Amino acid sequence: MKNNTAKRTVLPFRDIKVKREIMFHGIPASPGIVYGTVMLLKNNSVEVVSAEKVQNISSGQVQEEIKRFEKALQETQEEIKVLRDRVQSSLKAHEANIFDAHFLIVQDKSLMNQVTGAITEKYIPADAAFSQVMQKYITAMSAVEDPYLKERAMDIKDVAGRVLSHLHGLEIQQQKHSSEPQIIVAKDLTPSDTAMLDPAHVLAFAIESGSKTSHSAILARSMKIPAIVGMNRFVQSIEDGDRMIVDGFLGIAILNPTEATVELYKEKEKTKARLMAELMRETRLRSETTDGYTIQLAANVESGEHPEELKQYGAAGVGLFRTEYLFMNREQMPTEEEQFAVYRKVAENLNGEAVIIRTLDIGGDKLAAAMGPVHEQNPFLGLRAIRLCLANPQLLQTQMRAILRAGVYGNIKMMFPMISSINELNQALDILEKVKSDLQNANMRFDGDMEIGVMIEIPAAALIAEQLAKKVDFFSIGTNDLVQYTLAVDRNNEKVSKLYEPTHPAVLQLIAMTTRAAARNGIWTGVCGEMAGDPRYTPILLGLGIVELSMPPMVIGHIRRLIRKISMHEAEKIAEKALHAETAAEALRYSMDFLENNMPEILAGAREG
Ligand code: PEP
Ligand code: MG
Repeated sequence: MKNNTAKRTVLPFRDIKVKREIMFHGIPASPGIVYGTVMLLKNNSVEVVSAEKVQNISSGQVQEEIKRFEKALQETQEEIKVLRDRVQSSLKAHEANIFDAHFLIVQDKSLMNQVTGAITEKYIPADAAFSQVMQKYITAMSAVEDPYLKERAMDIKDVAGRVLSHLHGLEIQQQKHSSEPQIIVAKDLTPSDTAMLDPAHVLAFAIESGSKTSHSAILARSMKIPAIVGMNRFVQSIEDGDRMIVDGFLGIAILNPTEATVELYKEKEKTKARLMAELMRETRLRSETTDGYTIQLAANVESGEHPEELKQYGAAGVGLFRTEYLFMNREQMPTEEEQFAVYRKVAENLNGEAVIIRTLDIGGDKLAAAMGPVHEQNPFLGLRAIRLCLANPQLLQTQMRAILRAGVYGNIKMMFPMISSINELNQALDILEKVKSDLQNANMRFDGDMEIGVMIEIPAAALIAEQLAKKVDFFSIGTNDLVQYTLAVDRNNEKVSKLYEPTHPAVLQLIAMTTRAAARNGIWTGVCGEMAGDPRYTPILLGLGIVELSMPPMVIGHIRRLIRKISMHEAEKIAEKALHAETAAEALRYSMDFLENNMPEILAGAREG
């Protein structure tokens, strides 16, 4: 016995597991910083059985297997219904539509006939027959380039896992509730996995798959669970029970952080909370420069939900309503009445503050199931936004009718995304006139004087801003796309992310051309891309003549404080130097100098890095 004890004390060094601190970078999907224990979900779905391992059944067992299969389908349907109801009661209705796709899969007659056919003809058990059929679909859909179809393969895998688990008599893997809330780490989280997460027991999640627009990310933001997606080769380095920091602001996960790192993050979190509390107390202060220029600070929204948040963060209206989210995750387009109800509610909730509704910007990386499968070689250069709407005028007319009618109930403005030529704008305006006269003929109430704007997000639009300005009431610069299209850098591709430079002199020149053309024609220019909510760019944007900044509500306070500390004169000087800089870094430096000297707390508290 004594020997044993002695042995334990002289364990060779290699047997002692030293856990090193490792930092991983991913895509920030839902904001917040947490520190906790990891729960590793090794396998979210039950494995699909491979054909080789199949044991044949006798002819006498065929009916029994078909019954077993039908029962599993029935149980799966009931399970999906419970999930859908749960999501519907706690989240937005359209997010629950994710599960409609799951229903369609378990109710698909041809798929089911193939399974019963395989049981009857090949004498294989129900689970093997079902997995073979599903595997075929999953493989076919995963192989295509189309990101939407790839996501659908996830849905099929999810449903397949559920059916198989019922066939195997297994319970769906339930989240193990421990006394302490945990951080979920997994390769994927399917929509139903995500919906199963209980915010009271889940601190955050970090997964390898996904993008900002995948279902898991959408649900995480709604559930206010900090999240990181797109964590490359992450799971292999992690064990159940590891400790981890998740920074959902920056998309950083730190595995086994040292005490010093934990302390650093605790301080960061405290600083963020303190600053946020201060900024929340400033929401009533005017967003005015020291020399008296007012800048409108508006919110970007994806739905009409939570209007109280806009007030809470001090938003002066909505500068960008991304309506495409009303069209996603559902099998049918929203009707005119459904859209009208949403737009009307937003307008009413904002009590006369402006709400800028952008017409449908579907396409690119944002796809709607109801549009059917889309295959494009270069989707960001393809049939997206206004192009897609002009190719399907009925779609645009329905949306315009809903927006114009809702305009009676508040201060709604409408804007068109991805305009690249006068022809496109003319076509959209012609459709608008037709819609107005239809509404008039039908004696329906609508806002006939609604202000119309154009998004400037393609370099061509900035270059012809003078002509565009003569036909509309305002410009809103979509810097996310303007940077992407000016610099030929895919905004979603992490491999070229270093080249994605918002202060590139070419981008700044295009912004300046836009504001100058607008001013010459007596219209105003705002920015609704991510640059608007990032304080590092505020002095330059102000100096270039931007009068409205629209951003995620949570960052409005930061930008308000900055605006209250700068004069337009200073901003113009910074912008002028930035415009003539040789590089993006040099341009940015002029703005950073101001921030570092005047408000370092904003730099540290908003978005580092
Ligand atoms: C933009 O491009 O800057 C923009 C606001 O639109 P989205 O991000 O929806 O493309
Ligand atoms: Mg855009």
